[in-house]
Amino acid sequence: MSVALPLKGGCQCGGLRYEISAAPVTVAGCHCTNCQKIGGGAFAVNAMVAEPSFRFIAGEPKEIEWTSDAGNRRIGWFCGDCGSRIAHGHKPGTGIFSVRAGTLDDASWVRPAGHIWVKSAQPWIVFAEDDILSDKQPADFNALVQRFRSFGIFPQ
Ligand SMILES: [Zn+2]
Ligand SMILES: [Zn+2]
Repeated sequence: MSVALPLKGGCQCGGLRYEISAAPVTVAGCHCTNCQKIGGGAFAVNAMVAEPSFRFIAGEPKEIEWTSDAGNRRIGWFCGDCGSRIAHGHKPGTGIFSVRAGTLDDASWVRPAGHIWVKSAQPWIVFAEDDILSDKQPADFNALVQRFRSFGIFPQ
């Protein structure tokens, strides 16, 4: 399987649309308490993409800023009409955006390389034996990047 670029996605009402022009660096499940609140679910599935590869192509996103469980200033972009959260970045920027993978038009290829903030995961979650797990924010994402590459979803 090989997924074609650019990836496209948008909010629930369709007013806000985006495009990702390069393969995501990795995909990870985030079980932090902020992700649980933001999505109203047990965890978020985030596609991490290089900042220059991401752009909004329709609509004007609204912004919200908060302090993450790791203590970093975070910025989130969402649709002001339907409220769908689309992507997150850091302030100051790290060059990586987290795109909420459920907002992709085609999420059939999405497969988390691992899970982070497992310490606040809801107790019923069962992880796969070979999942890369991190109790909190990993010091670096190398293992998650390597494993995602090994899936061979995008041409290298
Ligand atoms: Zn919307
Ligand atoms: Zn999170």
